[in-house]
Amino acid sequence: MRHPIPFALAVVLAVPAAAQMPPSSGVRYDRLVIRNANVIDGTGNPMRGPFDIVIEGSRIASIRRHRSDRTFEADRVIDASGMTVMPGIIDLHGHTMFRINGEALPRDYVYKLWLGHGITTIRDPGSGAGIDTMVHHARLSLRNEITAPTIIPYATVFADTPEEIRERVRDLVRRGAQGLKVFQNRPDVWDALADEARRQGLPIATDMKIQEYDALDVTRLGVRTIEHWYGIPDAAIPSGVQDFPDFYSYDNELDRFRWAADLWRQADPDRLSAVIDSMVARGVTWDPTFAVYEANRDLTRARNLPWFEEYAMPNVLAFFEPDPRRHGSYHFDWTTADEIMWRNSYRIWMHWVREFANRGGNVTVGSDAGFIYHLYGFGTIREMELHQEAGFHPLEVIQHATSNGARALGLEQTGVIRPGFEADLIVVDGNPLHNLKVLYGTGVEAYENGQLVRRGGVQFTIKDGIVFDAQALLADVREMVRRAKEDVADATR
Ligand SMILES: [Zn+2]
Repeated sequence: MRHPIPFALAVVLAVPAAAQMPPSSGVRYDRLVIRNANVIDGTGNPMRGPFDIVIEGSRIASIRRHRSDRTFEADRVIDASGMTVMPGIIDLHGHTMFRINGEALPRDYVYKLWLGHGITTIRDPGSGAGIDTMVHHARLSLRNEITAPTIIPYATVFADTPEEIRERVRDLVRRGAQGLKVFQNRPDVWDALADEARRQGLPIATDMKIQEYDALDVTRLGVRTIEHWYGIPDAAIPSGVQDFPDFYSYDNELDRFRWAADLWRQADPDRLSAVIDSMVARGVTWDPTFAVYEANRDLTRARNLPWFEEYAMPNVLAFFEPDPRRHGSYHFDWTTADEIMWRNSYRIWMHWVREFANRGGNVTVGSDAGFIYHLYGFGTIREMELHQEAGFHPLEVIQHATSNGARALGLEQTGVIRPGFEADLIVVDGNPLHNLKVLYGTGVEAYENGQLVRRGGVQFTIKDGIVFDAQALLADVREMVRRAKEDVADATR
């Protein structure tokens, strides 16, 4: 098993409510052959092929140059002529949600959007469903009992005292958490937490927001990944304090998200350079989640994305609309000046992510979908597009989304298309090196034989050798959305 689930889990008595899931639609074959595919292996190597890929059970058995006269003994053959095969996408920041805004979502809605976009692994940095449910789902997914990516469940942890945090960490280990997502203000609690996590062998992902500790401090404490970007410019502000207007309150989300855009400008480039060097030297992964803030630089774009109509549940869209009572729904007085400040901020931020990678740092793809007009699956692909905008070649972007993610998670046989490795791979209509947009569930337009046609999209998502028809999963999602809209219409009639 790839992610051994601690024995203690076997004694979990109650099955959490969200575990009542429809059965998996995926099938694992003794012998599966993907024929005539162009292959992007996920290491940054150029595309090669056409190849024939043989998968036995959950492993890639062999990869050979395609020959049209070769016949295979196989339980299933996928003809990938004109298609590209690449490793399955690893989304390092995927909050699984079964409820939004107090309302239930169809249980498999988020999972199907992910698999439908070729996402074979998610690290869940804390789900509203709780760690017990996510650990349970991780097992069900591993056994192909539910339609879901491989789940790496991290638990959010917080406490007021060092003693309390140690006890919490030990409790989470017992419950099967595979990592910790930390937002922790007090340095003494942080120190105890990091020490206990090290003893227990649990990696830490941190979303620093605003804390006494900055990126340099937590790098010293040995965190595995820094999420978003908070704490990095903070470590390079000469005065040491954020210079915001006197009326600013961190707990006013409009203030908080508006002025956050100024932090990269306030950071001193020489100091930033040293912060980046420390992160690289200590092997910290940077998971920037560019796309979740994109509404801040172009709100109109974010609110009118073409996939909302068929793929966004009405309650998900309602959750995104401005309302000070909800997290991430702060766009009630969002001005031209705010958008400009954010665009400038992105330029500096992207420059430093590029620089971090140039110096050897591990950059990954994480979406943080489910907030701020950022839809599951689509948001992960958008994140990849923004990595390209940050100056990365599409081959590097795919590396971020595959082998770099595997490295950050310690998955040694995932994220690369190579004999002996896990059969986590996707079959895509088109060439993502030409246009990453071919990965979107809505595909791309092409002009063929005098007509405008829709092409693209992931055709098959293969997780651990389990084949999912990605287009069928997306059709299921469209049906969920259609029905939910009917219900809303009935209720208002
Ligand atoms: Zn998050």
